Amino acid sequence: MKENVVVIGGGVAGMEAARELLLLGYNPIVVEQQDHLGGHVAQWNRLFPDISSAGDLVRTLGDGITDANIFLETKVTFVNRLQNGYLVMLSNGVNIACRAILVATGFKLFDASRKEEYGYGVYDHVVTNADLESWFNGNDSDRFPAAPKSIGFVHCVGSRDLKAGNSQCSKVCCITAVKQAIEMKERFPDARVFCFYMDLRLFGKKYEDFYIRAQQEFGIQFIRGRVSEVGETLEGRLQVKAEDTLSGKPLKVQLDLLVLMAGMSCNPEVAELARMARLDMDSDGFLRSRDNLGGINESNRPGIFYAGACTGAKTVPETLAEARSAALAIHRYMQGR
Ligand code: SF4
Repeated sequence: MKENVVVIGGGVAGMEAARELLLLGYNPIVVEQQDHLGGHVAQWNRLFPDISSAGDLVRTLGDGITDANIFLETKVTFVNRLQNGYLVMLSNGVNIACRAILVATGFKLFDASRKEEYGYGVYDHVVTNADLESWFNGNDSDRFPAAPKSIGFVHCVGSRDLKAGNSQCSKVCCITAVKQAIEMKERFPDARVFCFYMDLRLFGKKYEDFYIRAQQEFGIQFIRGRVSEVGETLEGRLQVKAEDTLSGKPLKVQLDLLVLMAGMSCNPEVAELARMARLDMDSDGFLRSRDNLGGINESNRPGIFYAGACTGAKTVPETLAEARSAALAIHRYMQGR
């Protein structure tokens, strides 16, 4: 009889871990609140730096877990400590006894309307990175002008921002802005495209090449400065005020579309799970790993493991690698090693 492992969260971390757990001979039971697997990645169009299809990745991961038990639109309602493991109670009335739980609850995209100065929810043509991906996916919206002459991207929206309650860098939004800026330039070659950044954090393989291409091949302008205010002109264009901190000069540009790079915030629902299972949390609301070197997959509780962005901002490749290492850590735990 295969041993149960409850995987909480059916995003790419939970899917990849479940696939690996199946290969290791376990019975992963994936519990997902949404009506689909894939989490945020399932809503994305293309992934950097290869501009590969996010949908293909989710489909490939899904193909690997056809033998797993998957509960969609289901929540964990209680976690009880047993003598040798846990009893996980689900909102569909199913109770599962297991020796190991993997938490892969991911992140929440920062609510850009909280940064009032950018006008998200006030001006139609102020959108987020997620709105733009949805539009790339063919979900049409009149918030996207048919032929924009100028487009801006604002980095660090809700990240590295103490006032917004998140001092951490979200790691993926600089390169996502570069990717989306290039994609907009490909669609609208005559448009001027600006990226307003504090500093660029492009640390992955090929990311720097991508950034150089954005400037040299596509003519995207990177402006080091914070946007201080967004308003609307009488003609309905966006008026953006910023300070170019390299030249020290204030800057005013008119845009037809402004894209806010909303960062990764903690998933607020994880607090309830942490309370039930007595898991430690960090001050920023993410779950706290046993340590941030060799114990990144481990919690403070025996048999409870972590993968992906439930412990902090992660790229997709990092998330997938963590999911595989979490599955291995669970296997070692089950073997008593
Ligand atoms: S990755 Fe870039 S845009 Fe995102 S929070 Fe870090 S510095 Fe800001």
